[in-house]
Amino acid sequence: MAKYVYRFSEGSKDQKDLLGGKGANLAEMTKLGLPVPPGFTITTEACRAYMRDGHVPPELRVEVTMAVREIEDTIGRRLGDFHEPLLVSVRSGAKFSMPGMMETVLNIGLNDASVKGLAEFSGDERFAWDSYRRLIQMFGKTVLDIDGDLFAAALDAKKAERGARTDVELSADDLKELVGTFKQIVRDQCGREFPQHPREQLDMAIEAVFDSWNTERARLYRRRERIPHDLGTAVNVVTMVFGNLGETSGTGVCFTRDPSTGHSGLYGDYLSNAQGEDVVAGIRNTLPLADLEQLDPTSFNDLRQAMRRLETHYRDLCDIEFTIERGKLWLLQTRVGKRTAGAAFRVATQLVDENLITMDEAISRVTGAQLSQLLFPQFDADARKERLTKAMAASPGAAVGEIVLDNAQALARTGAGAQVILVRRETNPDDLQGMIVAAGVLTSRGGKTSHAAVVARGMGTTAVVGAEEVDVDVVAKEVRVAGRVLRPGDVIALDGTTGEVFLGDVPVVDSPVMLYISDGLEAGLAAAEDDATRELVHAVDRVLTHADAARRMRVRANADNADDARRARERGAEGIGLCRTEHQFLGERRQFIEDVVLAEAGEQREAALEKLLPLQRQDFVELLEAMDGLPTTIRLIDPPLHEFLPDLTELAVKVALARDKDAVDPRDETLLAAVQRMHEQNPMLGLRGVRLGLKLPGLFALQIRAIAEATVARRQAGGDPRPEIMVPLVGSVRELHLVRMEAEEILAEVGEAAGLRLDLPIGCMIELPRAALTARRIAEEADFFSFGTNDLTQTTWGFSRDDVEGAFFADYLENGVLTISPFETLDGDGVGALVVAGVTGGRSAKPDLHMGVCGEHGGDPESIHFFHDAGLNYVSCSPFRVPIARLEAGRAAV
Ligand code: ADP
Ligand code: MG
Ligand code: MG
Repeated sequence: MAKYVYRFSEGSKDQKDLLGGKGANLAEMTKLGLPVPPGFTITTEACRAYMRDGHVPPELRVEVTMAVREIEDTIGRRLGDFHEPLLVSVRSGAKFSMPGMMETVLNIGLNDASVKGLAEFSGDERFAWDSYRRLIQMFGKTVLDIDGDLFAAALDAKKAERGARTDVELSADDLKELVGTFKQIVRDQCGREFPQHPREQLDMAIEAVFDSWNTERARLYRRRERIPHDLGTAVNVVTMVFGNLGETSGTGVCFTRDPSTGHSGLYGDYLSNAQGEDVVAGIRNTLPLADLEQLDPTSFNDLRQAMRRLETHYRDLCDIEFTIERGKLWLLQTRVGKRTAGAAFRVATQLVDENLITMDEAISRVTGAQLSQLLFPQFDADARKERLTKAMAASPGAAVGEIVLDNAQALARTGAGAQVILVRRETNPDDLQGMIVAAGVLTSRGGKTSHAAVVARGMGTTAVVGAEEVDVDVVAKEVRVAGRVLRPGDVIALDGTTGEVFLGDVPVVDSPVMLYISDGLEAGLAAAEDDATRELVHAVDRVLTHADAARRMRVRANADNADDARRARERGAEGIGLCRTEHQFLGERRQFIEDVVLAEAGEQREAALEKLLPLQRQDFVELLEAMDGLPTTIRLIDPPLHEFLPDLTELAVKVALARDKDAVDPRDETLLAAVQRMHEQNPMLGLRGVRLGLKLPGLFALQIRAIAEATVARRQAGGDPRPEIMVPLVGSVRELHLVRMEAEEILAEVGEAAGLRLDLPIGCMIELPRAALTARRIAEEADFFSFGTNDLTQTTWGFSRDDVEGAFFADYLENGVLTISPFETLDGDGVGALVVAGVTGGRSAKPDLHMGVCGEHGGDPESIHFFHDAGLNYVSCSPFRVPIARLEAGRAAV
């Protein structure tokens, strides 16, 4: 038989799964001998049984009876007794804290008879009736589902009638009348009497707590926090202690150290003559905790000792709920306290300095997500702002700039020294140049995984997407929003953390932690304006330094040009894991690529390619110079060729119009034929990557030659270039073999001409399931693997990243097929299994095969832990995420 009930003396802090956080910690405090009122916890298993069967398990009722009787025997009072009634609270408490999401009912056990007993035995009639009216109010609202405003309004009416400003000014008789009113509300709303039987109250309250697990807002909260829906909540039944027994009683909350700075000291609030929920509800002004020393020195001292005890025991910042009943301290809750990102770093290092934890533990106490919060610039909180709209916060940060509507404007204005915000209905790969130079991106369509969102996040560019109230009219060159008409050149500000869009120039401040990351400790400290911030910079420095020493995986960056490479290097990147070469075919170079496509094979095509060689060589020279001494993985061209050619429809229309006027440009006509020929239904699964390289000879050769010659140039200039050639979209070892043959020939030829040995590593991406499954064979031809987890996710799930977001991701997140987008966090069970297969296969052929990952997941904390466990040698992520990856790789290793 399952055991559904645990006395506080039976549990421990490690049983959060079964007892919930609150129950586990109440048990732990009981074991420590701290003053916790007697009580017990009903397990999450009972909640799961209730959700499954639609009723509580029959054994539960029996176990509850036993546990209640034990309390009754311990303290010598009985539930519902007419003279000395035992009262209890019924409190929810899930494994993960869900503040304000679920229910608690206090003062269970009061009824028309026992309220008199309570009055007599406490010698305080007012208190007894106050407790009773609280019970009916909380029970009515949370168990009977009555609109809480009805009770609140009745209470306010009574206060007005008596000219009372606060509830403590109401007399016993007032409260007695109020109880009558409240009972009438119950009658009117439910068609039944307020239940008088204490056990019925208890059972109904327990079920109400179970039910509160599945309220709309609880489900919403769990979705946002990625807490599974099937955990269920535990229920704690706790003997009531009373903070509302006059001036020598009270209730409060405290922290063992300041949750925003991390400093040790006395932080908390106290409210005398009150019950717990009054502090949070803010109905009266609380006192600072330090004032308790004057009011009640004995309880104050007991509390300080308990705080110290708890902090030492948990070796972390704790928050505590306590109540003082007539000069006696009781602890009602503790947990490792929530804290701001900055405090997390400071607390961790302070605990190290106090010899409470080690540096290894310190790095596991902070997260990459917290670090990233410290890196974003922010809008000056004091500045005046006019809000235009609020939409989806897709990529955090604060960006201010002139509106631009396309690449040309973006380049022109940034070229002239302006900051710009690219505003579009949606973005596509054509907008990349504009996105690169823009400080922020605003779109009126699309969701969190739209092109704009994904690319902006990758680049660390602020983005707000799906702003439906923004009307982008490219023809009229206008942006209409909030009754205003804005034009290119008008300044707007985007808050990528909140999704807000403001009019005009809102001042932005750079974060000192960011300056520390990019320019070093001195710069970070110099930018800090106060001691707390200086402490923070030091703390981040210590944590990152330790993470760097602890981690086994290297951290590289995805960078396409020398500027990005330099930026990544400043932030601690130890190489480039992915240099995409496609931008080298964009802009004015499009012309050349068109020539390549239009040219007949043979000499004509070679001549066309020839023109691209010096340009690309120069790109690589600059890149390799910026990454001197560090591995630089260059991926040969990957996207389908049509992305570099004019749009089929546009070109067709242009040619048709020209035909009407008999003025067709013959080049356009040939181009149209080519574009039509290359048109694919499903280009992402079409002629791209290695397939393109094999189909259109000369293209890869050009790139390999440019890399080889750039390497020679750098070596001759005394540098230490370390390029690695990476072949995309390989599915069969034969594909890689063919490219390798060609590459080796070119490397030998260029090397020979320069009198140098050029044995550059040649490897491939593992981004197709077939590649992962045949990794053992592929490894024979590969010097390294790089897992392209974006494509691997698309091809494993059969999802198109660009389309699924709008189509059905929202439904899938709602119905639980997905808990998070697999493009954000690696799907460990599916895509992850292929990564593991690829690692195992590759290493079975070559035990030392070097492997990394270059998908977006390389910068995602949870995924980084997966890659560590899978045995990868490095992760590669966007330059902005490098510090986050350094920290998470360190955390994964300790
Ligand atoms: P939450 O999780 O929302 O904080 P709690 O279960 O902690 O809900 O309870 C709400 C309030 O009631 C808290 O302030 C708590 O201290 C107080 N409280 C709960 N149980 C008791 C009790 N047995 N005696 C006195 N106060 C209690
Ligand atoms: Mg609480
Ligand atoms: Mg790919």
